[in-house]
Amino acid sequence: MRVVVDRERCVGAGMCVLTAPEVFDQDDEEGRVLLLDASPTTDRQVAARAAVTVCPSGAVAVTG
Ligand code: SF4
Repeated sequence: MRVVVDRERCVGAGMCVLTAPEVFDQDDEEGRVLLLDASPTTDRQVAARAAVTVCPSGAVAVTG
């Protein structure tokens, strides 16, 4: 699995961090998403996929 984020679309809602804190973080300035793990292992993939669903701005995507 590959995870990608679009920091321009991110509105800083933080849902991805709440859902998958090992995969996502937010920067201190604007609260925009930071990608911690672009290739999550199996134990993190369910949460990463859930983050796609909960993100209100469509700023998170996964492939594979
Ligand atoms: S849930 Fe979406 S909008 Fe909110 S911080 Fe994460 S990527 Fe940004």
